[in-house]
Amino acid sequence: MVKKSHLLFFFALCFLSCKEEDTPKEFFNVDERLHGYFETFEREAAARGMEIDLNEAILTAQISEIQGEGVAGQCSRPQNTLDNDITIDASFLNSNVSDLLKELVIFHELGHCFLQRSHREDEYPNGNCISIMRSGVDGCRDNYNSTFRSIYIDELFDPDSF
Ligand SMILES: [Zn+2]
Repeated sequence: MVKKSHLLFFFALCFLSCKEEDTPKEFFNVDERLHGYFETFEREAAARGMEIDLNEAILTAQISEIQGEGVAGQCSRPQNTLDNDITIDASFLNSNVSDLLKELVIFHELGHCFLQRSHREDEYPNGNCISIMRSGVDGCRDNYNSTFRSIYIDELFDPDSF
């Protein structure tokens, strides 16, 4: 009897966690190549106590060529509308830059378009950027790597603590 209920419990556990991995979340009006990044963004928010559903935001995201050298992404918020429109540069996304750098750019644009954040150029004494919301045109140096990623995401969701 005891064994049977344990078995059931483990099945239930597996069913729940497997289901989550097998069926990626769908995001409306978002290019499906960006869905994984959007899902990671929601998961990182949840890990910090913020339950968010990007489908509830007025948010669109597409991939296309952006004019202007070195522009990897942009967030447009036409005045007098509630629209938030992210464009990720196709050449950038298709290039062989690291997945972390792609994540930085997509999270940066979600920072503008979803979290309504502006640029932040502050840097640590060693010259590393404090935020992934840096504009990229000022001097600070990106340090978004596997060691410091979680600190940058902490800052993204809670800039006042940094
Ligand atoms: Zn920006």
